[in-house]
Amino acid sequence: MSADARPVVPRAGRLRPLSLGEVEIVGGSWAQRQHVNSAATLAHCQGWMERLEWVANFERATDGTIAGNHHGMMFADSDVYKLMEAMAWEVGRSGSEDADGRIRGLTEIIGAAQESDGYLNTVFGRPGQEPRYSNLEWGHELYNFGHLLQAGVARSRTTGDDRFVEITRRAADHVCATFGPGGIERVGGHPEIELGLVEMARVTGEQRYLDQAELFVERRGRGTLGEIGFGQAYFQDDMPVREATVFRGHAVRALYLAAGVVDVAVETGDDDLLASVISQWEATIARRTYLTGGMGSHHTGEAFGDDFVLPPDRAYSETCAGIASVMLAWRLLLATGEPRFADLIERTLYNVIATSPAPDGRSFFYANPLHQRVPGKYPDPDVESKRASSSLREPWFLVACCPTNVARTLASLAAYLATVDTGGIQIHQFVESRIGTTLDDGRRVGVEVSTDYPSGGAVTVRITESDQRPWALTLRIPNWATGATLTDPSGDRRAAGPGNVVVEWPFGVGDEVTLTVPIGPRWTRPDPRIDAIRGCVAVERGPIVMCAESVDLADGRHVDVLRVDPSVPPRDEDGAVLVNARLVEPPDQPWPYGEESGTGTGEADSGPVDIPLTPYHSWANRGPSTMRVWIPVTNS
Ligand SMILES: [Zn+2]
Repeated sequence: MSADARPVVPRAGRLRPLSLGEVEIVGGSWAQRQHVNSAATLAHCQGWMERLEWVANFERATDGTIAGNHHGMMFADSDVYKLMEAMAWEVGRSGSEDADGRIRGLTEIIGAAQESDGYLNTVFGRPGQEPRYSNLEWGHELYNFGHLLQAGVARSRTTGDDRFVEITRRAADHVCATFGPGGIERVGGHPEIELGLVEMARVTGEQRYLDQAELFVERRGRGTLGEIGFGQAYFQDDMPVREATVFRGHAVRALYLAAGVVDVAVETGDDDLLASVISQWEATIARRTYLTGGMGSHHTGEAFGDDFVLPPDRAYSETCAGIASVMLAWRLLLATGEPRFADLIERTLYNVIATSPAPDGRSFFYANPLHQRVPGKYPDPDVESKRASSSLREPWFLVACCPTNVARTLASLAAYLATVDTGGIQIHQFVESRIGTTLDDGRRVGVEVSTDYPSGGAVTVRITESDQRPWALTLRIPNWATGATLTDPSGDRRAAGPGNVVVEWPFGVGDEVTLTVPIGPRWTRPDPRIDAIRGCVAVERGPIVMCAESVDLADGRHVDVLRVDPSVPPRDEDGAVLVNARLVEPPDQPWPYGEESGTGTGEADSGPVDIPLTPYHSWANRGPSTMRVWIPVTNS
């Protein structure tokens, strides 16, 4: 496996990412999720794509029968590519022969459909179909190519160049030939090609791929796309990238674009462009992000809302937007070394990405609301969901972007845990793992991270490789963790963080650095400008956002009867997080407004009772329920 077997390999930046050969997850909940992803999810996804004839689209394109007989959405090709990317990372992670065989099989089918000039798409361009690039607003051709390139990059970095990688390079060449200077000087309606091209430039060393990515970035926001009902902000064509002040429009589009812009900025040394994305990120985190790290509140247009429009019950918070946010934050972390980006990655991993797949890896959330008012029904296991919203995880979707996005993230997750720089190793996420790498001066260093985080807050980093010359071990103390302590190899204990703490030490094999992070449950209060949750509090335990579920209330009462008194802290008891609550049922009224609040007289009040909370990422695992993260305080 190549030393470059990792999702992002920037030419410059503050930190260097580790490859899947240098870092391995060896235990805990993420190891379990990786195992399920490998053993169940990959085959599950391919099975659905075969059954719904999305794979057959390529065969029909090859044999000339595709016109009028295309199945699925016009971006169904991208789901096959994203699955291939997931499989490529899985081959890199575990050496899976099953995943490798599946890639080879799909390569034959896809490769046969590629046209002589590198064009590859099952919706456009053949007799009886609309012409190529006749619908850049909605056609998704460049989006599909972006995912194809990312898959080719993953394959090249984990296995080396093969027929599939060759197919993806020919597609990249085609894009440059078609959209370069003097060609079609427009952009695609769904960003993704930008980061695909930059990554392809990194793999191949070909400058023209980077140049083309830069062209796409600079062209956006100049009105090369036509008017659409959602408005030009939907596909970020409303203003040039550098002039924007916040992420807006379709959330996944905005975040994939921003990730590609960071890639371009880093490769070209364009610090102004990088600074622009960082300030847009800051505004988005401050005003447009859910407690879970979820982004994009609007169902209509799957879009960011205005500042502080973050309703919990109408939260769209698409799983893909969470993944795209992690992709962006990872790039910003590598570029700057600032722990705030790793903080957001942790929040989003535990509360959006971990929420989507069921424990068996065969059903998924697409939208991730923070308040569910109506218990759902079990989905038909043999029918794909036609819609994104559901109160139970669905086996598959007509728009199936999320499951394969989860799959590729889990398969490559180890690469997001730690980095190196000239002076040492930085551990950004506390996951049971083994790390072995080479510092820039050629020294071998290695550590083993042992922890039951986030169930517990104790983290032990044991040195497994070091030659007793000093180097720096950096640990990120999460931004919510006040009162953490660190013990260095001499046994000295000191207060630590939040932020990066550095232990510079002449480490020898067997030395240990231990960290104690207070992970007990705590109340969290919202900015009052988020009107939809004013007067409510939430509970977080360590990095985990908690929720109340009706299955935990006597008689399955609706969660909307809950009130809590925030002067009584939440507590851990026998492995459960408990809050002292009242179940208050207002009387039904013919008109729910008046001089007095509806929660005045005539309420049925349970009096104080202990209510157990559940990690948000596990909600609905016990069947249909109502659920809420934000709970009204008593007398509100
Ligand atoms: Zn999605």
